[in-house]
Amino acid sequence: MLPDPALVVLVGASGSGKSTWAAERYRAAEVVSADALRGVVGSGEHDLGASADAFALLEQVVAARLGRGLTTVVDTLGTDAVRRRRWHDAAHRAGMPSVAVVLDTPAALCRSRNAGRDRPVPARALMSQLASVAAALAELESEGWQVVRVEPGGPSGAEPGPGPRAASEPGSAATGLRGVVLQLSRFPAEGDLLAWLLAMAAAAEEAGLTGLALMDHLIQIPQVGRAWDPIPEPWVTLGALAASTTRLQLGTLVTPVTFRAPGITAKAAATLSALAGGRTFVGVGAGWWEREHTAYGLGFPAAGERLDALERGIETMKALWAPGTKPYAGRRVSLPETTSYPRPAGSIPVLVGGGGKRTLRIAARLGDGCNVPSDDAGLAKLEHYLALVRERGRDVSEVHATVLDLPLVGSDRDDVWTRVERHRGRTPAAAFASLHHAGTASEHADRLAGLAERGVTTAFVAPVGLARPDDVLALEPLATAFG
Ligand code: GDP
Ligand code: MG
Repeated sequence: MLPDPALVVLVGASGSGKSTWAAERYRAAEVVSADALRGVVGSGEHDLGASADAFALLEQVVAARLGRGLTTVVDTLGTDAVRRRRWHDAAHRAGMPSVAVVLDTPAALCRSRNAGRDRPVPARALMSQLASVAAALAELESEGWQVVRVEPGGPSGAEPGPGPRAASEPGSAATGLRGVVLQLSRFPAEGDLLAWLLAMAAAAEEAGLTGLALMDHLIQIPQVGRAWDPIPEPWVTLGALAASTTRLQLGTLVTPVTFRAPGITAKAAATLSALAGGRTFVGVGAGWWEREHTAYGLGFPAAGERLDALERGIETMKALWAPGTKPYAGRRVSLPETTSYPRPAGSIPVLVGGGGKRTLRIAARLGDGCNVPSDDAGLAKLEHYLALVRERGRDVSEVHATVLDLPLVGSDRDDVWTRVERHRGRTPAAAFASLHHAGTASEHADRLAGLAERGVTTAFVAPVGLARPDDVLALEPLATAFG
């Protein structure tokens, strides 16, 4: 795969297939073409008298796009070393990789394509272009370019496919949640909420997703929407989804221990499991947003106390879900009896959300999994979590190493960038695209497969702008990313 965003400089003679290669892979706006700019400032693409003006514009466009961190494909012969150095330096300043794509098309093929054109390049000019391309090819590596050579006529040029995927681990305890879980975080303010929820869940099942998770908040959080946007109580809502679905794993991401006494959460989850025939997980966290606690008359103790409550909460839930009604005497919790019916219809994994040091220790010691962001910092925490699990002598194949991922998914490159513009607010487009890994579903599937290789078992995905069942169906390629 070529890096993206990147500076991509095409190198090849007339008729070698540069413009065709670029048009198949990039949006029109991403390709800066000397020929096209001759057509803008001159009488047409072949108006050589307009070259100086066209190249002045081209330099300006390249510099402006690279300055914004936007992918830029330079469609010229690519044989001018001075220009190449200038573009390379500009990309370097912008922190972007520089790729030289060499269209290594045989001279005879260039000649015959050239001859068939409306305004062929003179034969001698083409000869000299071919010689310059060969000379450039010898220099590119030492100039610092990542060089990609494209064979003519290949189905998609020289684009290497995605790497091998991690084998799934059937039979391990963590398989139930392995895959992609759709997280619903925004809900329609108008219309039939239940009908919308059922349609979204049906689409998730149809797309082959593993589960459906709901946030547990009392007021819509500022990261997602406005305070007056609806955010339904998750356990009630999951109960409705239990009735309409047959395959999805259902649960929260995450329930703050500060909201309900843990025994009440244990009761809700056990009931959901009984209603759904298993298929239940509980995400838990220490809680973080003081405003919703205050507004609903709940206490919001200091962080240390909330983490103490998290430990007691997990222990309490597990005690209540265990078979029988016997008394429980644990390290932090003692209960005179553990009478809880209906019984859960299967084990209920507890995923601990948050990446703090103590939170990860709690997850490794008491929980069945962790949940961290899918960025590099989050993945470092996930690795730390897995190390803690091993240190405790636990088998990593029995825990859920999960991430929260906020992808921007489009149907093709044009749609992706239309969505970036729609949703980016005041964030620069390149930064927004990078934050959300803006791309097509198959690109996201490849990225998630890469996460699987790093030990991630489950991605909770909350796609940017997710609003309709179609948006959920579009996630189908992601469903197999974890094997
Ligand atoms: P450029 O001058 O390097 O930009 O070359 P173009 O991209 O304009 O391609 C020149 C001609 O070759 C056009 O008629 C294209 O349709 C044709 N062409 C380019 N790439 C391919 C290819 O991979 N296969 C075939 N069969 N034709 C191609
Ligand atoms: Mg061209």
